Amino acid sequence: MAEPGRGVPRVDSRDAALAADEADPIAFVRARFAVPEDITYLDGNSLGALPVGVRDAVADTVERQWGRDLVRSWNANGWWTLPARVGDRIGALVGAAPGQVMCGDSTSVQLFQAITALARLVPHRRTIVTDGGNFPTDQYVAESVARLLGVRLLRVAPPDLDAVLAREGGDVAVVALSAVDYRTGELWDAAGITRAVHAAGGLVLWDLAHAAGAVPFDLDGIGADAAVGCSYKYLNGGPGAPAWIYLPARHQAAAELPLTGWQGHAAPFALERAYAPAAGIERARIGTPAVLAMRSLDAALDVFDDVTIDDVRAKSLALTGLVIDYADAFLPGVGVATPRDPARRGSQVALALPDAYAVTQALIERGVIGDFREPDLLRLGFAAPYLSYAQVWDALDTLRAVLAGGEYRDPRFATRAQVT
Ligand SMILES: *Cc1c(COP(=O)(O)O)cnc(C)c1O
Repeated sequence: MAEPGRGVPRVDSRDAALAADEADPIAFVRARFAVPEDITYLDGNSLGALPVGVRDAVADTVERQWGRDLVRSWNANGWWTLPARVGDRIGALVGAAPGQVMCGDSTSVQLFQAITALARLVPHRRTIVTDGGNFPTDQYVAESVARLLGVRLLRVAPPDLDAVLAREGGDVAVVALSAVDYRTGELWDAAGITRAVHAAGGLVLWDLAHAAGAVPFDLDGIGADAAVGCSYKYLNGGPGAPAWIYLPARHQAAAELPLTGWQGHAAPFALERAYAPAAGIERARIGTPAVLAMRSLDAALDVFDDVTIDDVRAKSLALTGLVIDYADAFLPGVGVATPRDPARRGSQVALALPDAYAVTQALIERGVIGDFREPDLLRLGFAAPYLSYAQVWDALDTLRAVLAGGEYRDPRFATRAQVT
């Protein structure tokens, strides 16, 4: 049985789910999202739902700011300062004081920026470490940075990191990990890992793609050396919403970011021939930001204005605990690939089952949207701001019915789409 965690309700029946909804301190946030009535959306860890306020913000940006104010908007409508302002708002959700987070580009680009900049801070060390279970882009980018800098890339699972540090920690420049395993939902001990890498003299980068907006994080407090994250998952910024990079104040002056675009220059409008990085987090700018997408993200962040991440976390743990208990009780033959200890769990539950792809498709046809991850995982993400306990209970009843009735065996569910 999953431990629900301190102060988190245990939900083991539909009545208990209804009672938990009655007592839910963040139930009011649901109305800020436009999720279709007939959908239970359990894929907010892939693309967050649409916050209602985004429509007006984007329409205003298109019609008034772009349409009427035109190029004057860079000053008049704050387009120039938007990346740093949005960065600070994201920073507030991940434990970063103002002036250390810049919004822009994609997570893949920001990974390249951050890993390279950290490796350049400790050039005598010749090893970059990532997790072989990390999201592919994180591994591919780490591999490319290692090749460019002529250093070695080691793939190490977080539980094996201590042994590697003991053996060859003196050569480790950067350890680049995701805070939450994208497949299993395991939440790593970021504070402990950061401490261990620092003790060996190395630097740590955290990818918060599956944490920002769902799991409390204390980037400043744990002494992270850099972080990146995407904004279209639990931050609900919209498809292709710009990502972000965190560079703590103590590293900013020395950080040499490899993508030296004109907007990161100390004097962007002096149009000088040679690059000189701006002071502070401004040096983490690259080129012209995607203003429409960033305005969408800015408006999406409003849903968190009067909601604490601790309340989001408590509800998320109750929901994922509910799913694990339900699977144990009512879903024979279904394994739980996600840790049962709430301290080691992100905001998703991965269920291991035969025919997981077909089951995922059959569920989607019944209005319960999750996703499939190789080789046999039905991955369900829980965005506490827009889910109710009763809705999740009913979605699990639907999964139970799909498995018991065998409808997923229909050939129409077997064909893989381009995006799974
Ligand atoms: C979602 C995700 C990404 C996405 O990278 P993009 O550049 O936005 O495609 C990167 N890393 C992790 C760990 C992710 O979960």
